Amino acid sequence: MSGSWESSIRQEGRVLAERHLFRSLTPTADAALTHVIRGGRRLLNFSSNNYLGLSAHPELQAALERAGAHGVGGVASRLIIGHSHELDELEREIARFKGTEAALLFSNGYMANLGLLTALLKPADAVFSDQYNHASIVDGIRLSGAKSYRYRHLNLDHLETLLKRAEAKGIKRKLIVTDSVFSMDGDVAPLRELVWLKKKYDAALVLDEAHAAGVFGPHGEGMAHHLGVADEIDLHMGTFSKAFGVYGAYVAGRKTWIQYLVNRCRPLIYTTALPPVIVAAIRASLRLVQSGHTLRQALHERSAWFRQQLMEAGLSINGSTTQIVPWVVGGSERALKLSQALAEQGVLAVAIRPPTVPEGASRLRFSLMATHTQADLIRAVEAVRKACRGKEAGG
Ligand code: PMP
Repeated sequence: MSGSWESSIRQEGRVLAERHLFRSLTPTADAALTHVIRGGRRLLNFSSNNYLGLSAHPELQAALERAGAHGVGGVASRLIIGHSHELDELEREIARFKGTEAALLFSNGYMANLGLLTALLKPADAVFSDQYNHASIVDGIRLSGAKSYRYRHLNLDHLETLLKRAEAKGIKRKLIVTDSVFSMDGDVAPLRELVWLKKKYDAALVLDEAHAAGVFGPHGEGMAHHLGVADEIDLHMGTFSKAFGVYGAYVAGRKTWIQYLVNRCRPLIYTTALPPVIVAAIRASLRLVQSGHTLRQALHERSAWFRQQLMEAGLSINGSTTQIVPWVVGGSERALKLSQALAEQGVLAVAIRPPTVPEGASRLRFSLMATHTQADLIRAVEAVRKACRGKEAGG
């Protein structure tokens, strides 16, 4: 054991702890449901991305069991023998669902973003990324070595200034990348305006629909479909781990781009194919999502009610207009205390702290589910109000 490593790692841990930023793993049971068991308590769950409640759906469980009869593992990478007929069929289904020429299945959203950005971007290219884009986008950009321009959150003027700057430098290939629904704020990228800028500056536009896929769009296709700009997006990325309730991710777009990724995308090429049990569950989930209008409507209605309640209580929810509702409270210690106060009342909303969110903008993030009842939401709002009062009394 190396003593110098051990002591410096310990020291870094101590610094994190002093700033209330040290994390540890907490086992949680029944996380797919609206009530979890955590720390020996039964808590109302507002920290799951299982937005439509599909993760525990019997049709997904049955599909998974049937597929397991032919072997559980993915057995080889996609370019060797891991590309099964079922996986091939799923990719066609994804392309039909998204209205694109082709689609690719990835192990997860992190690898999809890392993979597509590192495959597309060369050091001579310029990439324009919203300040609050997901870490997998940030990491993909870093790894690509492309010239990186980070624009202020949702700020089109700033983006345009940066596009002009790149153009003045003679950079030819430009790529704009953004989350559609932002994971920590629940606000939405101005896609129509981004499409306008993309055209004006001859840039490509890549969209991460992780939190919108299954939730927005006439059949759950995502925010680009909801806003009527789907055909203008060069690559659509989304995950099957959130509203779809399974695991894995997709990238969809024109055939040329997808074929390019098959040849160039290292996180697609150098990893084992997703297991057939997961592929089967995704296919079942894709069917449920497309006919999930009632679930989506329930989710949107509950989210709108909940956002309204927090706003009426005078709390800051930033610009949320979706099922992700942050209660921004400031410092990380305060966020931890309020999360604890909610847990004491039986409500789970995990504190989100830097570096996931900016310094001074720690928050409790409420993720709503279509399966929450109105009574569940009333209970959460009461717990929030009580936690606020407790804070006033207790400082
Ligand atoms: N993009 C965004 C916007 C996300 O929120 C996440 C998940 N936190 C990912 C990508 C990564 O997806 P996955 O969990 O499937 O790796």
